[in-house]
Amino acid sequence: MMAVSATVPFTHLCTMLEGVDRAKGKDNKKKIFKEFLDKWREFHNSVHKDDPNTEDSFYPAMRLILPQCERERIAYGIKEFTLAKYYIEILGLAKDSPDALKLLKYRAPSHAKGEAGDFAAVAYFVLKNRCPEKGSLTIQEVNDLLDSIATNNAAKNKEEVRRSILKLLRSTSAMEQKWLIRMIMKELKMGMNQAGVFAVFHPDAEDLFNVTNSLAKVCIDLRDPRVRLNEIAISLFSPFKPMLGQRIPLDGVEKEMHHEMFYIETKFDGERMLLHKDGDTYKYFSRSGKDYTHQFGAHPLEGSLTPYIHNCFASHVKSCILDGEMVGYNPQTKAIMSKGDKFDIKNMAEDSDLQTMYCVFDILLLNGQKFANSPLRERVDYLDKLFTPIEGRLLLGDRKDARTKAEVIDALNEAIDRREEGLVIKYPGSKYAPDKRKGSGWLKVKPEYVDGLMDQVDVVIVGGYFGKGRRSHMISHFLCAVAVQPNTPGEKPALFHTFCRVGSGYTLKELYQMGQRLHPHWRVFDKKKPPKTNILFPSGYKEAPDVWIDPEQSLVVQIKAAEIIESDKFKTGCTLRFPRLEKVRDDKEWSDCMTLDELDDMRKNAEGK
Ligand code: ATP
Repeated sequence: MMAVSATVPFTHLCTMLEGVDRAKGKDNKKKIFKEFLDKWREFHNSVHKDDPNTEDSFYPAMRLILPQCERERIAYGIKEFTLAKYYIEILGLAKDSPDALKLLKYRAPSHAKGEAGDFAAVAYFVLKNRCPEKGSLTIQEVNDLLDSIATNNAAKNKEEVRRSILKLLRSTSAMEQKWLIRMIMKELKMGMNQAGVFAVFHPDAEDLFNVTNSLAKVCIDLRDPRVRLNEIAISLFSPFKPMLGQRIPLDGVEKEMHHEMFYIETKFDGERMLLHKDGDTYKYFSRSGKDYTHQFGAHPLEGSLTPYIHNCFASHVKSCILDGEMVGYNPQTKAIMSKGDKFDIKNMAEDSDLQTMYCVFDILLLNGQKFANSPLRERVDYLDKLFTPIEGRLLLGDRKDARTKAEVIDALNEAIDRREEGLVIKYPGSKYAPDKRKGSGWLKVKPEYVDGLMDQVDVVIVGGYFGKGRRSHMISHFLCAVAVQPNTPGEKPALFHTFCRVGSGYTLKELYQMGQRLHPHWRVFDKKKPPKTNILFPSGYKEAPDVWIDPEQSLVVQIKAAEIIESDKFKTGCTLRFPRLEKVRDDKEWSDCMTLDELDDMRKNAEGK
């Protein structure tokens, strides 16, 4: 296919440069360049309408407009003086003729008059009557001749250099020569700088040039001014690095969200995965761009996920790219398993009792339309109409509106209760920037478990609370207690003080099994007719459980928390902030749980720090 630069006359480019040079004010200069560029683009589109992926671009012109950015053509190695000598020789000027002296001594005011110091301008006057009225070269031909000058000069092939300069002189007007000289000297002096040229070309041109140092890449990749850089990285069936979140302390959230409304999303604990779909063809890429299609399935009849989700998509969905988290789901407990629980979703065996579930939280492309530059609030609208979620296979990430730190703390408490690690907070106006973390508009908040500030505590389970909704038949939270230390060493404790409430941790296999073990021993706890037990509650039976268990039949569990805080809801007068069930202490008897004395010591210690 023909290149546009093989058709556009070099004269047109120079006329544009002349116009920019003469125009007053930055805006007028930019306007003239933009008209030229628009015409080029229009022509480009008509020439290449059957080949939208052509490598042809504005580059041949751009490298002449910004010669200082040239990285492909080797240096010409020619300065004004050398060029002057070539001209004198080619034009057959006598060495001491006024014109020859003007060229050689272009810096001296007496010879060059008003144009002193500007070789190109001086040459223009000398050449005015010696060059054709109108040039006849295309932009491509000029680039070829410049290539020839550069390579032959480097090869010390003077004769060839002379021939190329001769050809240029014979086929260009004096005005074109003036610009040509400036191109060779790598300084155009047209009153519009590099940043200005880039800005007219494309809003991301300067950024991309700074990263790649390649004018060619800028011109090819940013060919379409409507397509932004972050959209370019995103295309169907090719991997890209997903957007990331910045870890931030709770105190910083409101400011980071510009004191406006923001979204709080569930933070899924799995593997980041991007799903690309085009009809019946699927591809899955990890965060680092690794292809996991063989695992999850390239077609509706294969893999651990694709067969289950293929029919969930709405009929209008032909192609799409989704961003989300691949997690392990336990159909028995209806819970998402934690990543730490010795399984790897990327290599899950077929007979595992966990199944693969994809939790979707973003969309980057739908039926060919790219969304990276649409704000999140618009992207999630598309997401809502995309598919029908299916339990345990395909989940639409939830999000709620919030404005304050207090709301974040509440949400964080609930998340920790559900044994999640934290939250993801997102600015509704944020665009999708691949591989970006800082200032992206996505934040990660997690409880601040300061290492060493608080030890893990081993407490005994004394009660249980039933879950809500789907999980109303399961115990979703435990009530835990510490023991009143016996008077004589070696004796078993006889009384227990309620101390904290913690999510039951059905997301850990081991804890699920533990639930099974406790199952036969639960007894109903009726607040109105409280049973006689060795468990002491604060007045009013605050935090009374639905069921209780005799500590002697129970288990010791290890809990991690951020700190100990005052609380009248528990008999101890204090409780744990952000408690998280870590593991079952199979190695400990019920009687080995923490005592009130130990708890007191710990409180004093924590205050001291
Ligand atoms: P990072 O992934 O940020 O380098 P990390 O690997 O330690 O750090 P975390 O800090 O635990 O990960 O959490 C960040 C990860 O959370 C993201 O990379 C993403 O995979 C995952 N994630 C889970 N839920 C969401 C969500 N709703 N929105 C965005 N990312 C989410």
